Amino acid sequence: MLQLYPGSEEDGLLSRRSHNTLAYSRTQAPPAVQCAWCEHRFDSNDHRLTGRVWCARCGVATTTPWPNDEQLSAAYADWYRPKSGRFSGLGDKVLRRTRSALAGRLDPILPPGPVLDVGAGDGTLVEAFVRQGREAVGLERYASGPHIRSAEVEEVDGTWSAVIFWHSLEHLRQPARALSYAAALLSPGGVLVVAVPNATSLQARVFGDRWLALDLPRHLVHLSPPALLSKIEALGLRIERVSYLRGGQVVFGWVHGFVGKLPGHPDLYDAIRRSEARQASQSPALRLYAFAAAVAALPLALAATAVEVAARSGGTIYVEARREPAPERVPA
Ligand SMILES: [Zn+2]
Repeated sequence: MLQLYPGSEEDGLLSRRSHNTLAYSRTQAPPAVQCAWCEHRFDSNDHRLTGRVWCARCGVATTTPWPNDEQLSAAYADWYRPKSGRFSGLGDKVLRRTRSALAGRLDPILPPGPVLDVGAGDGTLVEAFVRQGREAVGLERYASGPHIRSAEVEEVDGTWSAVIFWHSLEHLRQPARALSYAAALLSPGGVLVVAVPNATSLQARVFGDRWLALDLPRHLVHLSPPALLSKIEALGLRIERVSYLRGGQVVFGWVHGFVGKLPGHPDLYDAIRRSEARQASQSPALRLYAFAAAVAALPLALAATAVEVAARSGGTIYVEARREPAPERVPA
């Protein structure tokens, strides 16, 4: 069943999410002509799937058609991240708890200095660092707040103890360039932290076009661990930690995928969102169906997670990489 590349489902088998988001393509957006990661111009050697092209040179997929700014803005419309929060029930609270845990984990391993969170969302991680007593700034195009700036990483200067891309690198038009720029912002001993979906994970291969983290067209690149890790090493950073679980969404990716395989293809991700944060309206019965299916699928999802994490093929890649501290000067 495993393929070299995540599978493709053609002929109208796409999920509703993909239908909605791919609808942009049929009108205006041109096909992607080059790899968004390594800038190789696509030719007949590159592998074309629905909504993305796999680069034969670097093994990273680029979203195609390539959305223009207007189409991307539409894809991040108010429903995507409403001010009232994204998730119903305990969802937003759980999210805040896990972000605080990440800040708590990183704070002791960083040198003194401020933290830059690229793609900060509603600023939950930034606020968690501030609560730890550390200065922190978040970059986010579509949000505002006391510690949030509407800017790209390339517009930032100064030196930072950490630059964090928590599920944001895949949203950028020039992600490799952004990483290079971020590495140059690190103080000696500073840490680059990246979490992205793993497009060559077991769950990506099993669920193909229905995989949760494909998220077209918002995800513009679909990274593999070798491509990401070799780029970070090429920037002169020392990789200290790689996890195929810590990037989050791994168990949920499986549960969502199993639920989506049922008749009617219920969308669990939409079902757990607040009504104003859903891509499409869902009847209470459909939500109940999705939740019941999720509970039933959980044991299988946990088993699948254990298998893919053990195989270092988990649904996300999490990396911590450090800029070597300047050598200590030996007194003459
Ligand atoms: Zn490439």
